[in-house]
Amino acid sequence: MSEAPNRWDHDVEVMIDAERIAARTRELGQEITAFYKNSPVCVISILKGSVIFAADLVRALDLPLSMEFVGISSYGNETESSGVVQITADLTRSIEGLDVLIVEDIIDTGLTMRYLLENLATRHPKSLRVCTLLHKPEGARVKVPMDWVGFTIPNAFVIGYGLDYAGLYRNLPYIGVYRGPTSED
Ligand code: 5GP
Repeated sequence: MSEAPNRWDHDVEVMIDAERIAARTRELGQEITAFYKNSPVCVISILKGSVIFAADLVRALDLPLSMEFVGISSYGNETESSGVVQITADLTRSIEGLDVLIVEDIIDTGLTMRYLLENLATRHPKSLRVCTLLHKPEGARVKVPMDWVGFTIPNAFVIGYGLDYAGLYRNLPYIGVYRGPTSED
């Protein structure tokens, strides 16, 4: 995976299809709705990867909620987390005293989430909880709290449904493993 793809005849092995994602998102929505019981929640979607999941998840939540976004960029190569994280877009309001739900696409080493939790905790929310669509337990380097997990997956680099490879493939409706272009020419 050294070259960035610039073509669309990709070979992707489907890992989780759109129907399974939708069904699990509905379940998570019910669990989270029951947990917060009508109290207002500030949902923080982590840019860019979690945007598609967050958009579907919030529509499965029967709660008074607001949405915020935090942009994160991590240094290091594209397929491995360095844990050195920079906030590229910050919240537009204070989260002091609020029940905050972080919505993330994937937790691998846990380094990004650890940084985020530490950073957001300094802003004194009433509570800070985490919902991640995907979790790769084999990659864990630090333990981070995960209140809701969509799917636990093996240690493969996945794309689609918000997740990119070199900026592409976020719009695939499923989660899959990128195998490269279908033909070499
Ligand atoms: P961590 O810091 O937990 O290792 O990784 C978190 C971030 O790394 C995710 O938010 C995501 O941006 C990226 N990442 C980790 N694993 C994958 C993967 O399999 N596919 C993609 N597209 N990004 C990943």
